Amino acid sequence: MSWFIKKRQQKIAVEEKTVRVPEGLWVKCEACKELIYRAELVNTRNVCPKCGYHFRIGVEERLNDLMDPGFVELFGNLHSTDPLKFVATKPYADQLKKLRDSGYDHDAILMVEGTLKGSPVVLGVMNFDYLAASMGSVVGEKIRLGAEEALKKNCAFILVSCSGGARMQEGTLSLMQMAKTSAALARLDEAGLPFLSVLTDPTTGGVSASFAMLGDLNIAEPKALICFAGPRVIEQTIKQTLPEGFQRAEFLQQHGMVDKVVTRDQLRDFLAYCLGWMMGSAAHDQ
Ligand SMILES: [Zn+2]
Repeated sequence: MSWFIKKRQQKIAVEEKTVRVPEGLWVKCEACKELIYRAELVNTRNVCPKCGYHFRIGVEERLNDLMDPGFVELFGNLHSTDPLKFVATKPYADQLKKLRDSGYDHDAILMVEGTLKGSPVVLGVMNFDYLAASMGSVVGEKIRLGAEEALKKNCAFILVSCSGGARMQEGTLSLMQMAKTSAALARLDEAGLPFLSVLTDPTTGGVSASFAMLGDLNIAEPKALICFAGPRVIEQTIKQTLPEGFQRAEFLQQHGMVDKVVTRDQLRDFLAYCLGWMMGSAAHDQ
């Protein structure tokens, strides 16, 4: 028993050490594995100065990066419930409560309306810090409502995705969101309004298998992992080594799954440029 306690204490000490040191000064790049001085990332918009890997950024930072000042939140009153009374390692209801208590109030997506370089848009940004930005009923519903709002306002719809996939805690209700979001986007398409999908690292599972890949333009950040099942799962299943860069944004662009890889410092200008010619012709048709 004393051996057990000793081991456990050692483990806790190691965990504290490994968490605290990189949090302060250094960040390890997921792509090139180099250690980067954290302050340096502020100047590079969270892009690795060594290899150009785009680190995930927060929802607020993303919105301020893309939108003109004065945007307003939509559908902020929607919150996940626990329809299946789901319990895995911990009860889903407890996870939701803990997140709300820590200030996460938008589920895994924040939807806003406003303008992007003067063009009116409805824009949603997924938040990976909230249950790996998994798509449950609220995420799906906000996307449907966002698409309908764009339809009402006759403006473009933009989603900035990152996600671990469907939210397992909501079971089949999560899977239904794939069909629901796709149907909402189809209505935008029928109305001739653009949907621009921005894929960031990582966009996977049911999200990549539904709305994220349905953009009139699918735009990705450099080196973003975009896939349904991850490379390790595929390698274990087919027992073959995958090609270099498999399932990364550049590989997908080469194979026609992504239209353009755009760096973070160019993204706002690129979206505004697309909206210019896409909405310009839509306005002309009316
Ligand atoms: Zn790097």
